[in-house]
Amino acid sequence: MIHPSRVRALNSRPLQPGRYVLYWMQASQRAECNHALEYAVTRADELDLPLLVCFGLTPDFPEANSRHYRFMLQGLAETCRQLRARGVQLVVRTGAPDRVAVALSSGAAMAVVDRGYLRLQVAWRAAAARDMACPLLQVESDAVVPVDQASTREEYSAATFRPRLHRQLEAYLLPLAERAPRRSSLGLEVPSLDPGDPERLLASLGVDSSVPPAPGFHGGTTAARQRLQHFIEHHLDDYPLARSDPSRDRLSGLSPYLHFGHISPLYVALEIAATGGPGADAFLEQLLVRRELALNFVARNPAYDAWEGLPAWSRQTLEEHAADAREYLYTRAQLERAETHDPYWNAAQREMVLSGTMHGYMRMYWGKKVLEWSRHPREALATALYLNNRYQLDGRDPNSFAGVAWCFGKHDRPWRRRPVFGTVRAMTAAGLRRKFDIEAYVRRVQRLAAPPHPH
Ligand SMILES: Cc1cc2nc3c(=O)[nH]c(=O)nc-3n(C[C@H](O)[C@H](O)[C@H](O)COP(=O)(O)OP(=O)(O)OC[C@H]3O[C@@H](n4cnc5c(N)ncnc54)[C@H](O)[C@@H]3O)c2cc1C
Repeated sequence: MIHPSRVRALNSRPLQPGRYVLYWMQASQRAECNHALEYAVTRADELDLPLLVCFGLTPDFPEANSRHYRFMLQGLAETCRQLRARGVQLVVRTGAPDRVAVALSSGAAMAVVDRGYLRLQVAWRAAAARDMACPLLQVESDAVVPVDQASTREEYSAATFRPRLHRQLEAYLLPLAERAPRRSSLGLEVPSLDPGDPERLLASLGVDSSVPPAPGFHGGTTAARQRLQHFIEHHLDDYPLARSDPSRDRLSGLSPYLHFGHISPLYVALEIAATGGPGADAFLEQLLVRRELALNFVARNPAYDAWEGLPAWSRQTLEEHAADAREYLYTRAQLERAETHDPYWNAAQREMVLSGTMHGYMRMYWGKKVLEWSRHPREALATALYLNNRYQLDGRDPNSFAGVAWCFGKHDRPWRRRPVFGTVRAMTAAGLRRKFDIEAYVRRVQRLAAPPHPH
């Protein structure tokens, strides 16, 4: 049963005499553990209609490049096969996703869409709701606790958010039943691109290809599930102690899959909770509290990607210290090429450029140093977001905006005053050396490949 609070009508149009029910897949790009898909199956059966799924492939999603598209298209190819196995046709067309959905809605009795939290995703849904003649219902499937249930205000920190989320978990941490729709849509004649060959589809899009592929990641639900199982078998017990240590590669690597919706956070949470192991609580703190706090941030703060989105106290203290002398000052281009005096920072930057990901602890250090070494904190915020979103396979996610903003004081509290940072928390190279075998991390990154030449 799908909790009614996951479902929201985006317009109030009457049912139409359509040939199918349309599920416009946008954020939850998967055929498994997808509340929007299952809701659409139920409605199609009720109306005795087949279910058609559509995906609008926009070649100009802001800040996305071929690294991101390749991964996404690999997932889409698998989703297409999995839907077919349930008698459901996936229609893929190039164009703005809302326009593709509106065009296909002309044959639909009603339409369903999953929920996205970023400005553009919200705008697409609003425009589609306005332009469709049929009802458009949104079903939230990429949050364990629906964002509006978790909290109706912008949360100050994990400490304020955690009890609210935990109070609701029991109602939402429930498996989702799945079934094939009674009527197949495979015979419907609806023109579509063939998503079966991701490389060919990618070549046809003409997107920015200046960032190389992320070699360690293959998109799709199967790869995501394999990663999760590997993590549970080998690293989960160790997670509370090892997760912060960049010299030990002990994280799940699930963030790109969560970002593209290739795996459901609910599925991950249920699998982890079922282990009952010693690492489960620490992992669920990240997956549930931290990740859904980031959803709360972008859903509630319209300036989530701008200086104005930072807390008043941190903006004030950073402005007060904006003119402080910086020991080191680097341009965006120098940072992008990993040309700083700091071998640990350079290693983190290279890890991101070469592999498409960066160890979670190093992301904090990396962002703090961009703040410290830029001419002005506003410039630093823009640079950190630019680099993060260009190179991280999981970039352009609510977590990207919350993670970068954290380096500038978001979801944190004032600390002891220091030059440049004011009362925003600072991090030091000495701290890395004290806590970890950080040279082992540098050597790990060196093994990835020769130094990068991004341009
Ligand atoms: C400056 C900075 C930039 C960041 N940019 C991104 C980004 O672009 N995309 C992104 O997904 N995450 C980002 N994060 C958050 C976090 O670092 C990553 O989610 C995590 O490192 C991903 O690796 P993993 O899946 O192996 O994590 P694991 O440790 O295995 O955690 C499992 C899941 O829990 C969630 N999670 C873990 N840590 C955090 C956290 N600190 N905040 C929110 N959720 C978390 C993620 O969904 C993650 O996939 C950023 C953090 C900082 C400080």
